[in-house]
Amino acid sequence: MRTVAFNTLGCKVNQVETEQIKEDFIRRGYKLVDFNQTADVYVINTCTVTHVSDRKSRTALHRAVRQNPAAVVVVTGCLAQINSEEIAGMDNVTLVVGNSKKDLIAQTVDELDGKPDRPIILADPIKPEDRPQMGLYTLHHKRTRGFVKIEDGCENFCSYCIVPLTRGPVRSKLPEEVRGEIENMVRLGYKEIVLTGIHTGLYGKDLAGWNLESLLYNIIQTIEGEYRLRLSSIEPLELSPGIIELAAGDEHFCRHFHIPLQSGSDPILRAMGRKYDSQYYRDLLLDISAKIPGVALTTDVMTGFPGESEENFNDTFKLLNELPIYNMHVFKYSRRVGTPAAVMEGQIPEVVKQERSARLLNLAEQKRRAFVESQQDKVLTILVERKSKNGMLCGITDNYINVLFSAGHIKPGQFAGVRIKSFDDMATGELIDNI
Ligand code: SF4
Repeated sequence: MRTVAFNTLGCKVNQVETEQIKEDFIRRGYKLVDFNQTADVYVINTCTVTHVSDRKSRTALHRAVRQNPAAVVVVTGCLAQINSEEIAGMDNVTLVVGNSKKDLIAQTVDELDGKPDRPIILADPIKPEDRPQMGLYTLHHKRTRGFVKIEDGCENFCSYCIVPLTRGPVRSKLPEEVRGEIENMVRLGYKEIVLTGIHTGLYGKDLAGWNLESLLYNIIQTIEGEYRLRLSSIEPLELSPGIIELAAGDEHFCRHFHIPLQSGSDPILRAMGRKYDSQYYRDLLLDISAKIPGVALTTDVMTGFPGESEENFNDTFKLLNELPIYNMHVFKYSRRVGTPAAVMEGQIPEVVKQERSARLLNLAEQKRRAFVESQQDKVLTILVERKSKNGMLCGITDNYINVLFSAGHIKPGQFAGVRIKSFDDMATGELIDNI
């Protein structure tokens, strides 16, 4: 039996796409093996959002070649999309595949007659008609949470971001296909469905009569069964009152929003090409937390954008400190060739980025602890995900707290009621009931 190994970098969308490519290979009779093992085929699903992701992508490629120089090596993802010729010029690469051609990978590899003399490149520019295909999951991945890609692409062109070039324009999956995919996952036993995309808030921009809000209402009103729904991320300007109302009033909808801030300084937001200001963001988060008690608000923040002064940074820090935020992903600005910010004046030295990032990470830890402590003694619904090494169960609440608790008769894949007891590195809880 031929073997295939995967290494996936970057965002949730890449993770979802890898799952789909895995299924394509399994259906063709391949066996999955770990990326550290010798395999007949290696697939590296790359990311290029920062220079660190670039480096990790290239390291994975070199590792695959070292492990089995005779293997078929496939490089796909964002780095392959925008640097296809350069990747094809690297030793032992067999196939370079852009983001919109990932569904051809398994078939192309399967039809190879030995390793070709020159790498095959399938990385044309992405077109508006390259709509995401319905994910045909047939295999249960022993997961309790399933991810559905509802859209691909972004047209915001934030001045620091390479993604609109690697992912192309907004293309939405047809609503009936989104529904079909979710129904299939619910049938397979997935209890939490995470809707994901490159710019999920722009869902429907290319479909007459649809937007994210109408899609969410449609899913909740038409799909029956025991499941809950989570949005992976939404930009501040696209979080409509209707979506907030839905999250506040329907228990299918997880009390969790990930709303990227990037900066709390208005001049920096303008230079980034973000179309809201700090006051808008502040009002939005306060409104959500007033309407949805216990809501988990998480965010992305970037430090070291060109021209970011100490005062600009302090504005960001102060805003985040004041807002009811649970957790944040902290990024250091990374210069991406081809973006407007790469040639802006006032590039910030690495040591300053590092110091500001450390301060934000420290704040993030304090916020995380404060949020979990605010949930102490509350009974929350948890989706049990797995057994931990010490025999306890580990699961996630609808408001995004990872909790360890003693097993009882509950199994992974079930919902349970857990009272939050304490918080150290992780929250611990006490089983109340099998819901
Ligand atoms: S919204 Fe901005 S940061 Fe997000 S993917 Fe689009 S361009 Fe990049």
